Amino acid sequence: MEIKEIKFLQSVSDIQTEYSPLKNINNKFKMLFVGRSNVGKSSLINSLLGKKDLAFSSSKAGKTKKINIFSVNSTFECLDFPGYGYARGSKEDRLILRDMILDYLAKNINEKIKIVMVVDALVGPTPLDQEIFDYLNGKGANILIILNKVDKTTQKILEITKNKIEIGFPQTSYIYYSCKTNKYKDFALNEIFKF
Ligand code: GDP
Repeated sequence: MEIKEIKFLQSVSDIQTEYSPLKNINNKFKMLFVGRSNVGKSSLINSLLGKKDLAFSSSKAGKTKKINIFSVNSTFECLDFPGYGYARGSKEDRLILRDMILDYLAKNINEKIKIVMVVDALVGPTPLDQEIFDYLNGKGANILIILNKVDKTTQKILEITKNKIEIGFPQTSYIYYSCKTNKYKDFALNEIFKF
């Protein structure tokens, strides 16, 4: 898929009140980007959409829990959810995230939604990734896993990560990515924007 136009729409922190404009059904396909902090989610969004600083790195943006929303080619909406899993407050992070996503899904039940879950290819899926996956998968969500930072792995490590994904995240599509080299970019764009 070719990226022709990207527009930053809004940044929301209070899903209950600020999100209300999005309750309007707008027939757009929506991708919800989720992942633990430092997994490279911001880098991935910037790399995929080809715009620098479109998504703010969590390290730069501080601790604010915001969902940043972009329109892509007037057809899609990408929602960048806050990263989860800082050592301190990680439980709270993931509960906030869970609630945000659940709330979002509940309000947009009739729309086409894909969860794009970013996992570190070197570290492999963490217990928090697993917990959030299990939760969303249990709700019947459409999930695509992106194994990011493949440039940091060896073939052997990638095999180990792949096995963990296939066991813990069964029947779920997963793809490789590197924000450093942009390897697999065209393939990733096609997979992410495919409905
Ligand atoms: P976020 O917290 O998930 O938004 O993560 P960031 O996008 O801020 O990335 C965290 C760190 O990982 C930064 O230092 C990035 O430069 C680095 N990073 C992100 N993606 C990749 C990748 O594919 N390969 C390598 N080697 N580093 C990456």
